[in-house]
Amino acid sequence: MANITFTMIKPDAVAKGHIGDILKDITDAGFKIKAAKMTQLAKQDAEAFYAIHAERPFFKDLVEFMTSGPIVAAVLEKDNAVADFRTLIGATNPAEAAEGTIRAKYAESIDANAVHGSDSDENAAIEAAFHFAAKEIF
Ligand code: UDP
Repeated sequence: MANITFTMIKPDAVAKGHIGDILKDITDAGFKIKAAKMTQLAKQDAEAFYAIHAERPFFKDLVEFMTSGPIVAAVLEKDNAVADFRTLIGATNPAEAAEGTIRAKYAESIDANAVHGSDSDENAAIEAAFHFAAKEIF
């Protein structure tokens, strides 16, 4: 799945009505949407998705936040998808995110930071498979 990344529009951005704005920024930046759905994570889904952060002090709040409302999960395709998408979304903390990035425009805080983007090709494949069956990725 090289050239693939996985994203979630997080509950804060969905609640604020930014699904359309964010998908437009994503497609304007040259990404093709290969799969997309609105869904809500159960506690065990969020815990599994963020298992790598299980020992971090923010883990419990992160799980609570990510399960607090609907998200939009999507699989995106572009050359150099993982790195280019992380550039498009900006730093984890929106206060440090470059101007014009999705987090600079739509995120509230380091935890409620509007979007997720995979950090490696390997994780992109794992995360896409976590949310979508192969036949749901076009
Ligand atoms: N996070 C948080 N507090 C922190 C660091 C991270 O709540 O101090 C949350 C935030 O929602 C972030 C997610 O945990 O997006 C995953 O953290 P990571 O360091 O992997 O950042 P990302 O790859 O999302 O930029």
